[in-house]
Amino acid sequence: MNQKIRREDALNYHAEGRPGKLEVVPTKAYNTQRDLTLAYSPGVAEPCLAIADNIEDVYKYTAKGNLVAVISNGTAVLGLGDIGPEASKPVMEGKGLLFKIYADIDVFDIELDTKDVDEFVRMVKILQPTFGGINLEDIKAPECFEIEERLKQELSIPIMHDDQHGTAIISAAALLNALELVGKDIDKVKILVNGAGASAISCTKLYVSLGAKLENIVMCDSKGVIRADRTDLDARKAVFATSRDLRTLEEAFVGADVFVGLSKGNVVNQAMVQSMTDNPIVFAMANPTPEISYDDAMAARPDVVMATGRSDYPNQVNNVLGFPYIFRGALDVRATEINEAMKLAAVHALADLAKKTVPDLVNLAYGEANLMFGRNYIIPKPVDPRLLTYVAPAVARAAIESGVARQPITDWATYETQLTQ
Ligand code: NAP
Ligand code: MG
Repeated sequence: MNQKIRREDALNYHAEGRPGKLEVVPTKAYNTQRDLTLAYSPGVAEPCLAIADNIEDVYKYTAKGNLVAVISNGTAVLGLGDIGPEASKPVMEGKGLLFKIYADIDVFDIELDTKDVDEFVRMVKILQPTFGGINLEDIKAPECFEIEERLKQELSIPIMHDDQHGTAIISAAALLNALELVGKDIDKVKILVNGAGASAISCTKLYVSLGAKLENIVMCDSKGVIRADRTDLDARKAVFATSRDLRTLEEAFVGADVFVGLSKGNVVNQAMVQSMTDNPIVFAMANPTPEISYDDAMAARPDVVMATGRSDYPNQVNNVLGFPYIFRGALDVRATEINEAMKLAAVHALADLAKKTVPDLVNLAYGEANLMFGRNYIIPKPVDPRLLTYVAPAVARAAIESGVARQPITDWATYETQLTQ
């Protein structure tokens, strides 16, 4: 998978044929005059009236139930920063492509020309009639927190800011499995988080939901350790302030069991990794350049369990393991939100799947003979077709059990068969 991509190849890929990566495809017959009178006037008036009479029928007669909006304002695009809404469109179309190929979910990508939180929230709110769910994407911190929190309160369809929660879910699954491999308990390990932005805050919160103890967590931002005596902290960072007498990343590394990097490339050296406990877990997830390279971390000491955001090394923490299936499960039970129980269900489903025998086609896709649960395989691979039937039903069940499913599934065997058709 170590493929170097040339700039012109990427540009040609997007430009060739019809520009972009998505199109709209009719799903009903349209060949005869009769078909057209059903599809449009006058036939179309019947579903309109039915929906006007019973608004829930919008799920019966329109594409709403399988349609997700991928919405960005282009303020934090990949690692490229604030490049604007138009420049974010290839990413949003790409996300649409992934939703479609992995979970058969249709996407309209929407790029908004605003940095104003109120305007953004208002815009998404009035889009609600069109969509079954909302995937917020590549919106910078701290605005992304307020936008998502307000929309969660105001909307009755599932919504998730993937840069926060997708990363949290996938890395949490990897963390549970890594801890199992090294025989450590989540409620005892010392966790060092480098970065205190959109992804780091959400990841750390989810680890706490899974049992990590606040007093065992040290978080650093660009100014160093987030200490209780710092006066420049916003409320989100202050939650993770430590009372331990640590100031630098280097000091915080000493004796840590787990390092979680969601900051910047090349800010960690081998000596820091060597100062961790036995069998340290190092998730260096800054993209595209990790906090420390896979090769450097492995050379620093042989007992590291290592993950990065990269596809060319083992254990890639890749959001595509989550969002297609989380939304699939949420849409299929008409969930009113994506709640903590649903996220935790996704974490456990991903962690469990990594322990099952790997199908041949996955081995083949990665040029491996025998991928097996272990230090070099702690999370499933993106091409694994079982992700759909593991994660989506787990999320759907959690939605039902936590009381947010408006259309609970009762026949699970039929549901799981339908998922793969
Ligand atoms: P973000 O919201 O901009 O947050 C970046 C955070 O990093 C900020 O808290 C910033 O500190 C901190 N930071 C910057 N330089 C630092 C340094 N030298 N030492 C310690 N902290 C430093 O960005 P994000 O969306 O959370 O993404 C952060 C990184 O994680 C990016 O590289 C992104 O590509 C990567 N990421 C990877 C995955 C994945 O692998 N699946 C998923 C999401 C994000 P201040 O608060 O002081 O500014
Ligand atoms: Mg993103």
